[in-house]
Formats: sequence, structure tokens, C-alpha cells
Amino acid sequence: MTQSTDLAIIGGGIVGLGTALAMTEAYPRLQVVLLDKESQLGSHQTGHNSGVIHAGIYYPADSLKARLCVEGRHLLYDFCQRYGVPHAKCGKLIVATEPGQVARLEELERRGTANGVPGLARVDRDRIAEIEPHVRALDGLHSPETGIVDYGQVAAAYADDVESAGGTITTGCGVTGVRVASGWLRLTHTSGETRARHALFCAGGWSDRLATMAGGGANPRIVPFRGAYMRLRPERRSLVRGMVYPVPDPELPFLGVHLTRRIDGEVLIGPSALLAGARDAYSLRRVRPADLVSTLTWPGTYRMAQRFWRTGIDEARHLLPGGSFVATAAEFVPELKPRDVLPGFAGVRAQAVDRAGRLVDDFVFSHTDRALHVRNAPSPGATSSLAIARYIADEAQRAFDLPHN
Ligand SMILES: Cc1cc2nc3c(=O)[nH]c(=O)nc-3n(C[C@H](O)[C@H](O)[C@H](O)COP(=O)(O)OP(=O)(O)OC[C@H]3O[C@@H](n4cnc5c(N)ncnc54)[C@H](O)[C@@H]3O)c2cc1C
Repeated sequence: MTQSTDLAIIGGGIVGLGTALAMTEAYPRLQVVLLDKESQLGSHQTGHNSGVIHAGIYYPADSLKARLCVEGRHLLYDFCQRYGVPHAKCGKLIVATEPGQVARLEELERRGTANGVPGLARVDRDRIAEIEPHVRALDGLHSPETGIVDYGQVAAAYADDVESAGGTITTGCGVTGVRVASGWLRLTHTSGETRARHALFCAGGWSDRLATMAGGGANPRIVPFRGAYMRLRPERRSLVRGMVYPVPDPELPFLGVHLTRRIDGEVLIGPSALLAGARDAYSLRRVRPADLVSTLTWPGTYRMAQRFWRTGIDEARHLLPGGSFVATAAEFVPELKPRDVLPGFAGVRAQAVDRAGRLVDDFVFSHTDRALHVRNAPSPGATSSLAIARYIADEAQRAFDLPHN
């Protein structure tokens, strides 16, 4: 197959599909083709996450995450309402179980307030017991605006809308080469070649590879972290009504082991955060030599390991069969017992790590000739997807000088 188009979007996760939607809406006459390497859209992070619509509590006020999460949440609730995608604002409690965590909880309250999170309230023991009767904690922060949704369903609804607006979506089409020649970007892929005037790369766990293929720099690199979950037995799901999170470690971009009700009624417990041997390490045994080499040859990996080896050892407990998740979550739900949980699923976080070994926390975008790249879109990337899409559409307008009609 050889095709030509005005705009190619690489990646059919929630960010690529949201971007395709924003571009078809903003530029109705632009030919838009979206390519994904898998046979099904949303096969990676979009289909393997906690399903939380984040309110915007955690992020420093001057970050892109703060701005795009808050804007994205509004847009997402509105989209779900209009398209009948099942969702629920079931609310979330962040709880401090030790006096040493209270100052960090106060900092989260300050951040959430600065970000304009609606209804955010400090709650004492009695109020915690009213909101979540099985939770025991010293202090808490309640966010009634936090919700749940199945991001696979959201992505499918974006895809329907893209196709209704005249966009083309091709699956099973992995891009393996990018070249600029005579005013075109030539994308070589498993089904042939697509020539595009411009391209937007939204490739999640493979974003660094596509960016370097297109002539971009190697920094930051994607280092995959496997996040495994367990789930509560159906008869124990009543232990939580909504979501209960610990106070996160401020050094890490992960939120800690939490209990999350899902839109299908399941209650998840997890996730872990362990360095993985493949960018699609849904099973522990999956190791891909190219991914492993990429992680191990990156100087940032060693610098990260020097800083976080203790956390790594701590996380490795979650590999042991049985109760390590339970022991962690039992700090705030004491009735939880190892017999209450069943195996769940795993997701793989596309975590950008810079050359200095820092886990890049904020969303990162970059440019190459005729192309824009999403280099880091970790959580709350799904919540923020429609706002990220608008951000990219604005950047594309500036960089490519696209005609609006
Ligand atoms: C364990 C876990 C829990 C999370 N929980 C939440 C949460 O509760 N709330 C929230 O808002 N966010 C959450 N996130 C983050 C969220 O899932 C991501 O931010 C979001 O899914 C990123 O979407 P994406 O489209 O960038 O990436 P992906 O969904 O990974 O999509 C990337 C796509 O690019 C395609 N691709 C890659 N390379 C190529 C190529 N060469 N050619 C063609 N196609 C290619 C892939 O097949 C894939 O479909 C979580 C993430 C994880 C891993």
C-alpha cells in the first residue's frame, strides 16, 4: 500500500485518537490518516490503566500536567455525557496514616486548591468514616470530582468520531522508518508507505524510537515500568465505595498502591512500579532484547538506579506471591486480608527518564522537521487526552501554518 495524505498521526492510543479528533474538528478539509501497529486500537497504556478521571490535585501549578489535567477533565466529562460513555464521579480520598505524612497532605491540598479542583476538602477521622466506612486514617483529603471510566471505551468513541468526520484509521500498521524528502515525510511501515505533508507522533511507550527515527534527540528515553494490579473478590468489593489513595512519595511520579473501583464494578488494588524487560511486558516473563538494551545503555538508567535502589527493592516485594499489596493497602483498610484478593492484570508505563536519571514528571512535546512528537504522556495522560489534543492542534497550527478551511 502506498498512500498520500495531508497529516499522518502515528499511534492509536487515547492521545493519538484524541489528537485525530481535534485535528479533524479544527481542519475539516485536512486529510487525516491515523496508523497503529497493533490490530486493535488502545492496546497499550490506554487499555491497561486504573481508569481514574483525575481531578488535578497532585501537580505543581505551573506544570502542563496541572493545566491539561484540569482542562482535560472538564472536556472528558462533557464528552462522556454527550456520547453516552459510562462514567461515575465516585470521589477519592487521599489518606495520611502516620503523623509524618500530614505535611505532605497539606502540600497536596495547597496544590489542588491552586489548580482550582472543585470541592476539595480536608477531612477528619469521623468524616473519613462517613465517606469510606472501612478506611482508618489520621487525616484525609477528599476530592468529590474525581471519577472513573473505561479509557478503552473512551478511545473507541474518539475513533468513531474521527471516522465520522472523514479521518482514516489503519491498524496493523507499524511505522519502521521516517524520512523527509521533497516536501514530504515518508513513513515506511509494515503495510507499505504513507507520504504525509506533516505528522504527529503519539506513540506512547515507543515515542523516543519514533522521535529519533525522525531526526530528534535521544533525550529523554522511555524506560518501561510494569504496573501490576490485583482485584478484590466480588464479596469483598464493599470494602471501598470510591477510591482510596495513600499520600504519595514526593520523590516519585507514581501515586502508590491504591484501591480503585472500576466502572464495571471490579475493585483494583495496586499498581506496582517495577522496571520491566519490555515495553509491552504484560506478562512478567516477556523480555525483548531491544528494549532491554535500550534501558541498559541509557546513562540515565544508572543514575536513576543510584537514587532509587531502595524504592526498587521495596517494589520488588510485590513480585512475591500473596499479601504484599494487601499489607500496603491494609495500612488504611485494616480489614483487608490476603484471602480477599485475586490476580488482576498489568499495565506498562511509558516513563521518560532523562540523561541525568530524573524520572520526567511533566508532559513533554518536541518538534522535528514537519513533525511534532509527544515524548512523555504518563498519568494523568488519559484524563488529559482531549486537552493534550488541543495543545498539539495549537502547536501544529503554529509550526505547520495549516489552513483552517
Ligand atoms: C498502570 C497505569 C495506570 C494508569 N492510570 C491512569 C489513570 O487512572 N488515569 C489517567 O488519566 N491515566 C492513567 N495512566 C496513564 C494513561 O494510561 C496514559 O497517559 C495514556 O494511556 C497515554 O496514551 P497514549 O495514547 O500516549 O499511549 P498508548 O495508549 O500506549 O498508545 C500508544 C500507541 O502507539 C502505537 N504505536 C507505538 N509505536 C508505533 C509504531 N511504530 N507505529 C504505529 N503505532 C505505534 C501503539 O500500538 C499504541 O496503540 C496509567 C498508565 C498506566 C500504565
